[in-house]
Amino acid sequence: MASDCLSLDQACLDVLPDAVIALDAHQVIVAVNQAASVLTGYPVEAMLGISCAALLAPRENDGSPCWPAGWHPSAHLRSVRAVPEQDMTLRRADGADRRVAVTGAYRRRGDRLIGAVFALRDAGLRVHQMNTGIEIVSTVSHELRSPLTSVKGFTALLLNRWDRLADDDKVRMLEQVNRDADRVTRLITELLDISRLESGRLVLRRQMVDLARLGASVVDDLSVEYPALDVTLCFPSSFPKVYADPDKVVQVVTNLVENACKYASPTGLLVTGEANSEEVALSVTDRGDGIGAEDIENVFTRFFRRSEARPSGSGLGLWISRGLVEAHGGRLSVTSVPGQGSTFRFTLPRVDFDDTDLGDTDLYGS
Ligand code: ADP
Repeated sequence: MASDCLSLDQACLDVLPDAVIALDAHQVIVAVNQAASVLTGYPVEAMLGISCAALLAPRENDGSPCWPAGWHPSAHLRSVRAVPEQDMTLRRADGADRRVAVTGAYRRRGDRLIGAVFALRDAGLRVHQMNTGIEIVSTVSHELRSPLTSVKGFTALLLNRWDRLADDDKVRMLEQVNRDADRVTRLITELLDISRLESGRLVLRRQMVDLARLGASVVDDLSVEYPALDVTLCFPSSFPKVYADPDKVVQVVTNLVENACKYASPTGLLVTGEANSEEVALSVTDRGDGIGAEDIENVFTRFFRRSEARPSGSGLGLWISRGLVEAHGGRLSVTSVPGQGSTFRFTLPRVDFDDTDLGDTDLYGS
């Protein structure tokens, strides 16, 4: 490289996930990394020493070329260091246009501009992530509003008419407020799980868990919200404990039993445990209308709601549940016979208690 060129270590550049392109004072490409080669479709060697404008035809959003007459005048001011983030379009080796988000920094020697280094990211990916973020916020805000409306309504009523309300009514209203507060907490936990699942940062707090007791406790809790709930729990007496995060397993079982109540029927439900030497499994079987073949795998897709879904939801429950089960090393699947009902079944791998260094004092454990 000429003396004015940047000295950039290629190995360091290549480990970066973002594309990096360095230009000299004349906007000739003097360094690129592997990610830039993938983004543009040119081999690294084919880019070096070529004018950026000639090779990649960078354009603004309105189609006009970036830097048509050399660097922007502000680039020559010593106080200007960073290149503000902007979207531009590049022409790839195959002739296709690619929208990228670009940030960077100018390089100077003393007062003299000697070039710039740019980091480029596929703008399509960013737009997609932003969209799903906005989608999640709008769906969940909608879901949060209904329990909060009821909390607000009942507390206002209790405060304004305390002396005139019968004790039974007060208890009924407070129970509803309590349930709605639980629902809001559950939704917020789900929201946090979504971001942790997506970023691979979900932390499991595993203990030895008795799934039969956990299942019974979930059914108990849900019977307040669904008074008609009628569940047969069927676990062999020698059912082994499983090494899992009890809060997350409660969330999965609650989602499956609640879905059975919402989308099938709260009566005639069966919660079954099975175990072999490798894994344990828990199934929730309902006697609803079942799920047609066209929808069966989609139910685990984010935001998917079947058109016949009666009470509306966010379409996130099963997607989160599958993520939580897979984070444990298990699988969540469904089989369904239209007209007869569905079975949602998840597995969790068996771990020997001796391998866990745990006492036996845990939730649902003793
Ligand atoms: P939500 O969080 O909105 O309840 P889920 O992800 O839990 O959504 O479920 C997605 C869709 O799968 C629901 O809209 C519903 O149509 C369908 N579904 C889930 N469980 C059952 C079931 N037991 N029987 C029939 N359909 C179901």
